[in-house]
Amino acid sequence: MDFTIDNLVRKNIKEMTAYSSARHEYSGKGNIFLDANENPFGSPLLAGLPGEVTARFNRYPDPAQVLLKEKISLIKGVPPQNIFLGNGSDEAIDLLFRIFCEPGKDKVLLFPPTYGMYEVCAEMNNVQVKKIPLTASYQLDLAAIEEAIDPFTKLLFICSPNNPTGNSIKRPDVELLLNNFNGLVIIDEAYINYSRQKTFIAELTEYPNLVILQTFSKAWGLAGLRLGMAFAAQPVIQYLDKVKYPYNINTATQQLALDALENVATVNDWIEVTVEQREWLRNELAKLKITQQVFPSDANFLLVKMKKAGKVYQYLVDREIIVRDRSHVIRCEDCLRITIGTPEENQQLVTTLKDYSA
Ligand SMILES: *Cc1c(COP(=O)(O)O)cnc(C)c1O
Repeated sequence: MDFTIDNLVRKNIKEMTAYSSARHEYSGKGNIFLDANENPFGSPLLAGLPGEVTARFNRYPDPAQVLLKEKISLIKGVPPQNIFLGNGSDEAIDLLFRIFCEPGKDKVLLFPPTYGMYEVCAEMNNVQVKKIPLTASYQLDLAAIEEAIDPFTKLLFICSPNNPTGNSIKRPDVELLLNNFNGLVIIDEAYINYSRQKTFIAELTEYPNLVILQTFSKAWGLAGLRLGMAFAAQPVIQYLDKVKYPYNINTATQQLALDALENVATVNDWIEVTVEQREWLRNELAKLKITQQVFPSDANFLLVKMKKAGKVYQYLVDREIIVRDRSHVIRCEDCLRITIGTPEENQQLVTTLKDYSA
């Protein structure tokens, strides 16, 4: 393998000068801040946020998110210099296209059925997408991938556990690509907390071309906060930092995420219940006459193949139960994607579907 980050980065990105903010340009301890044209009196908001809110909203946030990265570092076992924080994982996905893919020239490989944002970001950036569908058992088609890779292929997106299929991608297959592909292998681990497979974080030191995406939106219960993480070797992180908006993580998000990270135990309890409920729901759904197949899941949802999924979907909507109709997605014909709810919600779903079946 011949991986060199400088061969991979777009020329304009390599040569551009990053924005230097007021908060970047001083070092040492300040007392009177007259450098950023902020309002010195305060903000009308100061009261009323939960936790130990020391945040001062009249000031710009820390562009490097030092405190938050330190805390995430302790929990994830990744040094702060290998962490990028974004406005959701979606920001990191978009920035990877902007840094590494020359519009109208470079391409990326996607393995559908998978998360939709990869393709949206590719189109937005005018980057060609080559799709290699997963096999019938929702695994990578390695032969076809090898065939498709050419010198313009910059990024591979592997979602594991995969959305919407729920399964994990076989580890040796991912390792094969990490060992042989000269571009970046992005492993989206949005659902890793629910998985029997372990994260690739321990492999970060081995692979200069590995990028791991995780998020606060799922197991952490903070989809509304918009906070995503990317873990990678330092050169990749440095480019992400170079091109991001200087203040991409606002003060409220930084402060609230710090507070949330104090409650790891609660999050772990929820994960345990969700995994238990997943197996219960899988059993219950499998018993229904309208169910053709419930696929195994390492995530907080189940992909369920039904007889006439569209009709089941509408029946549920009419009873105010909303699931995701994936029946028009490749390899997901007649499938619904059902998120694991609370035990009460899952019970209600099963009762409603039993009525339909009868
Ligand atoms: C939900 C999800 C995310 C999370 O995206 P955010 O922007 O962090 O909310 C990322 N990847 C996949 C595959 C997802 O399903």
